[in-house]
Order: sequence, then C-alpha cells, then structure tokens
Amino acid sequence: MKQFDLSGRVAVVTGGNGGIGFGMAKALAEAGAAILVVGRNAAKNERAVAALTALGGHADAHQADVTDEAACRGLVGAATARFGRLDILVNNAGMNIRKAPEAYSMSEWRQILEVNLTSAFACSQAAHPEMKRGGGGKIINIGSMTSIFGTSFAAPYGASKGGLVQLTRALAVAWAADNIQVNAVLPGWIDTDLTRRARQDVAGLNERVLARTPAGRWGDPADFGGVAVFLASPASGFVTGTAIPVDGGYSVHS
Ligand code: NDP
Repeated sequence: MKQFDLSGRVAVVTGGNGGIGFGMAKALAEAGAAILVVGRNAAKNERAVAALTALGGHADAHQADVTDEAACRGLVGAATARFGRLDILVNNAGMNIRKAPEAYSMSEWRQILEVNLTSAFACSQAAHPEMKRGGGGKIINIGSMTSIFGTSFAAPYGASKGGLVQLTRALAVAWAADNIQVNAVLPGWIDTDLTRRARQDVAGLNERVLARTPAGRWGDPADFGGVAVFLASPASGFVTGTAIPVDGGYSVHS
C-alpha cells in the first residue's frame, strides 16, 4: 500500500544488529527503506546487514557507541554519505542493570542514562538538520513499560525510559513545523538478549510475565515490524508525540 511504502527512504537504526532493533530494521527494509545498522559490535552489525541484504534490502553497517556525541553526528554523516539522505531515525540502543535503587553506583546511573536517554537526544539533534533539509522526517524512540510503571529493580532504567517519553513529546512539538514526526514505542516483555538472562535468573519472572500479559506469551522482535513501518511512513503523517505500547495488552491489564 502506497501509504506504507518506504522506497527511497533512508533509516538509521541504533542497536539494529539484534533484538527489537533488528525486528524493526527488517520490516523497514521490506517496506523499501535503506538501513544503516548501528551498534558497537562490528561482527553483529555485519551479520544483520547480511541478513537484510539476503532479503533483497539495501543495508550497511556502522560501528559506533551512541554515548559518544561525536559518534551520533558521525552516524548521520555515514547515512548521508552511503545513501544520500536521512529520513528515519530509530533510537533503539538500550541497556539495563538490575538491582535495588540503593545499590547503584553513580557511574552505573550515568551509564544507563547516557545509553538510553542522552544518546536519543544527541542522535535526534544530529539528525534534525538533515531531516529538515530533506523536507521532513520520522524519529522513533524505544521506551518501555517502565516509562509508565515503577519497578523496584530498575530505577535508572525507568528514569531513562520515562524521560524518553517526555523527550518524544518535546521534540514532537518543537519540530512539527519542520514536518518531523516524533513518536515512542513502549515494548512489553520481549524475548531478546536483554531479557533472556533475567528470564533465567529471576525466579518466577517467566510465569509472572505470562500471567500478566493478556496475549499469553512473550513478545518477539518481529512484533515491532508493523509499528515501525507505520511510524516511519506517510501513514502516520498526523501522528506525533505519542507513546504506543506494543505489549500484548500488559499495560491495560489490572
Ligand atoms: P538487545 O540487548 O538485544 O539490543 C540492544 C541493542 O542496543 C544491541 O543491538 C546493542 O548493540 C545496542 N547497544 C547497546 N548499547 C549501545 C551503545 N552504547 N551504542 C550503540 N549501540 C548500543 O535488547 P532489546 O532488543 O531487548 O532492546 C532494544 C530496546 O528495547 C532497548 O532500548 C530496550 O531498553 C528496549 N526494551 C526492551 C524490552 C524487552 O523486553 N526486551 C522491553 C522494553 C524496552 P551492540 O552491543 O553491538 O552495541
């Protein structure tokens, strides 16, 4: 359908080499976008690019740590050098350290905030001039259920993900006149590297997630393809500043 066609569009996906980021990158590529896969692990980046290329997509790898402000400018430069423009930025790179609030060091707090929140601001700021020059753009920030709920074992993570929703709203308002739509996606419990260890280590977690999720299953990275294409395409031209849960009903379950 034309409204969802991304032919000729160029997307940067931070953390696009695995998990939810790859699920989104794959769907964006299938809709016609060229993808710059960004991550620190060069081998994972190359594997993701090979998988996207095997599907018939256009993709390239870019090794970068998004906590480095210059690297955020660098990934915009890499996208325009490789593909000629930048239309879509998915701020997906993220990490977590699970412990009680009183147990975090300040350096852990800063690390989590920098990877999850500050990088999204820096990459969006770097992307803005290029999107404006191209006549508009789409920014998709990946929040979490902790953008909504409090959790006892993830205070800095929750602060970063709550902050991402407010950043989304602020950028949506500021850049609407530049035809840049900025939205957030809030994943429920998704089976990825990020949660696999917790699922093994935290007693009862698997059962609690299954009981609380009305869909009765963990999410899969492929569950993020549809929302990514919607928020990256002309179909969402009048949708901005929202935070869309993709959670199998977790956030509306009492
Ligand atoms: P993964 O651990 O599979 O993916 C995280 C990605 O981020 C990797 O591709 C990693 O690549 C990249 N990354 C991490 N740190 C950096 C950095 N400093 N610079 C560049 N890239 C970085 O986890 P998910 O797919 O689960 O997570 C993706 C997003 O979804 C995160 O923002 C996470 O918080 C969010 N989320 C996930 C949920 C879940 O249940 N899985 C629930 C709610 C939100 P590399 O190691 O190569 O740098």
